[in-house]
Amino acid sequence: MSRPLRIGLTGGIASGKTAVSDRFAELGATVIDTDVIARQVVASGQPALAEIRAAFGDDVFNDDGALDRGAMRQLVFADDASRKQLEAILHPKIQAETLRQARAAVGPYTIVVVPLLAGSPLREHVDRVLVVDCDEETQIRRLLARDDGSEEQARRILAAQASRDERLAIADDVIENNASLAALDEQVSAFHDRYLALANLPVSQR
Ligand code: ATP
Repeated sequence: MSRPLRIGLTGGIASGKTAVSDRFAELGATVIDTDVIARQVVASGQPALAEIRAAFGDDVFNDDGALDRGAMRQLVFADDASRKQLEAILHPKIQAETLRQARAAVGPYTIVVVPLLAGSPLREHVDRVLVVDCDEETQIRRLLARDDGSEEQARRILAAQASRDERLAIADDVIENNASLAALDEQVSAFHDRYLALANLPVSQR
C-alpha cells in the first residue's frame, strides 16, 4: 500500500486548529501536532536543554533543572536575536521528530498540525495544505475568552504571525470557522470523506 496522504493543517492563533484536529481524530485520522512535539523536545532529559543552557544560561531554568518556559518566552518576546537563536535550536528537532512520526503513521491519511506552515520546510513534506480561516475579530474574541491577556496583546500576537492572506495563499483547502462548532464539524466531515477518496488514488494522482 502507498503511504498515507499527508495534510498540513494550519491557521492563526485561536483560529480553531485544535478543534478541527480533534474532530479529525474522532473520525479516525492520525493527528501529529507540532505544538505537542515542541513541548516534548524541551522535556527533561532532552538534548535541546543542554543547548538552550549553553545559549541562554541558567536564568531560563528552574531549580529542578526544567526549562522555565515563562522566562524563556519573555526573553524571546523581547529580543528578536534570542528568538532566532532559540528557533535555530528547536526547529530542526521539531521538524525531524514530526517527519519521523509522519513516516511511521499508518491509515489512509495523516493530519500534521503546523501553526506556522507558510514559512516552514515541513510544507515540502505534505501533499495538501488545509487552512482554518476565521476573521480577525472572531480570532481575538476567542483568544481573549480562552487565555489571559489584554486585547492589545492579542492584536500584537496576530500582527506578528503570517497574515490571513498569506495563509490563504498556500491553501489547497479552507475550513471557515466563523460560526458554530456544529458548522465546523460539518466541514471537517466533508473533508474527511474527500481525503479518504484522495488517499485511495495512486500517489501521482493525488
Ligand atoms: P492555538 O493557535 O492557540 O493553538 P487553535 O488554533 O488550536 O489555537 P482552538 O484552541 O481550537 O484554536 O480554538 C480557540 C478557542 O476557540 C478554543 O477555546 C475553542 O474551544 C474555541 N472555538 C474554536 N472554534 C469555535 C467555534 N466554531 N465556536 C465557538 N468556539 C470555538
